[in-house]
Amino acid sequence: MSFEQALQHLKSYFGYDSFRGGQEETIRHVLEGENVACIMPTGGGKSLCYQIPALILPGTTLVISPLISLMKDQVDALNQVGISATFINSSLTATEVNERLNEVKMGEYQLLYVAPERLESPAFLEQLRFLPIPLVAIDEAHCISQWGHDFRPSYLRIHQMIAQLEDQPTVVALTATATPQVREDICHSLNIDEEHTVITGFERKNLSFSVVKGEDRLSYIDRYVKQNEQESGIIYAATRKEVDHLYEHLQQNGVNVGRYHAGMNDQSRALEQERFLQDDVQVMIATSAFGMGIDKSNIRYVIHFQLPKNMESYYQEAGRAGRDGLDSECIVLYSPQDIRVQRYLIEQTTFHQNRQVQDLEKLQQMVNYCHTEGCLQAFILHYFGEEKPNRCGRCGNCRDDRTAVDVTIDAQKVLSCMIRMGERFGKTMIAQVLTGSKNKKVIDFNFHSLSTYGVMKEQSVKDVSNFIEYLISEQYIAVGQGQFPTLTVTNRGRDVLLGNEKVMRKEQVQVRQLVRDDELFEHLRAIRKEIASEEGVPPFVVFSDESLRDMSAQLPQNSD
Ligand code: ADP
Ligand code: MG
Ligand code: ZN
Repeated sequence: MSFEQALQHLKSYFGYDSFRGGQEETIRHVLEGENVACIMPTGGGKSLCYQIPALILPGTTLVISPLISLMKDQVDALNQVGISATFINSSLTATEVNERLNEVKMGEYQLLYVAPERLESPAFLEQLRFLPIPLVAIDEAHCISQWGHDFRPSYLRIHQMIAQLEDQPTVVALTATATPQVREDICHSLNIDEEHTVITGFERKNLSFSVVKGEDRLSYIDRYVKQNEQESGIIYAATRKEVDHLYEHLQQNGVNVGRYHAGMNDQSRALEQERFLQDDVQVMIATSAFGMGIDKSNIRYVIHFQLPKNMESYYQEAGRAGRDGLDSECIVLYSPQDIRVQRYLIEQTTFHQNRQVQDLEKLQQMVNYCHTEGCLQAFILHYFGEEKPNRCGRCGNCRDDRTAVDVTIDAQKVLSCMIRMGERFGKTMIAQVLTGSKNKKVIDFNFHSLSTYGVMKEQSVKDVSNFIEYLISEQYIAVGQGQFPTLTVTNRGRDVLLGNEKVMRKEQVQVRQLVRDDELFEHLRAIRKEIASEEGVPPFVVFSDESLRDMSAQLPQNSD
């Protein structure tokens, strides 16, 4: 089995002249019969890493994919270039399944796509047991990890099912999630030597990232979509209700929109997806239920209408832009209130204590992303473990030519106030003391007698909170764990207090509150409804209107 063959197939079936980063190495491992984990960004070209070996190896390559709705498209695309592939999933009748299985047994297919759940059927497994299966490809392999963002219990049992095959196949696991913990889980669960992990650079040179703050989101979207009328894009919103709302809003403004969320039936979802893939609609408004595995090459922009829950989901969703290599934009519309909403969601849906702590930490990283003034692409690469990423020169921050001003004195005010308060409090309380709030808690703790009380009274609680977020994102302040995280001063922060380090910040645009309190309340109600209707959520989650009202009341107010 020579690698030459792989190159020939690349050219003759797919029409490409050379492999992209990571593809060759992965394919070499597979052809050597070594289990391998392949980690590439979305759009990096993971499919070819098992499709090309499937053409070379005798027998049928089994592809395990969670994306039932996309199997048909993937198989059609392969058939179109003359590769024999098929799928077996719940969209087929029992008769069709048997027909296809018989064809598979006759050796008619080079690739067979199935969902992981199917392999849990002993009868089905029995049919596969004695077939020549040289390779099992596990797509979206992060679903194996409970630390990933799309855990599927049946993924955990894949290795058991592989063990039941007569001849032990080679295993290739593919994912775009690169965090060490997920990587470790994948290798461990599927018996992959960790040295056989192929990771390519995660930089996407044609994507330009930016974070938009302080603008009315709806008018921003209106403007953006108008300006990019000819282009295809995705707008992600946090709730189904919000998707519907945006959808109706844009439709009324004469925009050609589609929508996609878990509250729609299978048929209309499939239809909307198809219309988007065919360029019949310009803009897709969706919850994060949309997009995994979708290969639409000409998506020019991905906008997040709200703060995503973590960097993993963000990079995956944003990465759907620009698969064709042309310049594309990835934008987060950020409002500090989103933090509360996401925290609430994590607290209400994650019951495992460690998991909750981890999810909150991940959320904090996402918030840091929105507040940093450094290169956004570099921030992402650093998060995924790439050493010394360069400034990209393309992102919103790299292009931001506002001059940085020296804010060391303000930073010293914040940091010294934190120390005087005993480093036991959260952002809002610190901001209240600094702005001289007469809040009961401030008085009860006797903080109005501190020398730092009111030293920033010319600013609002909201502005000071924002500044604190900035100091967190630049690691002058550390965020503790748990439900009410306390803030502490880092060594770097202590250097600022000692006058050994200067803090610089770009002149600030006024960050306005983007959502009114009553709107936020409505938003939380919608989330509550949606969680309750989602499968697998334990029935003991109780969201009372009071708890929601409480939460919206805790938000920093405009009026200070
Ligand atoms: P992933 O699964 O990693 O998100 P895909 O396998 O769907 O990515 O590939 C993304 C796009 O890149 C597809 O349109 C594919 O045809 C294209 N592609 C893959 N490999 C190459 C290559 N070697 N040269 C050029 N284009 C490629
Ligand atoms: Mg893929
Ligand atoms: Zn940059």
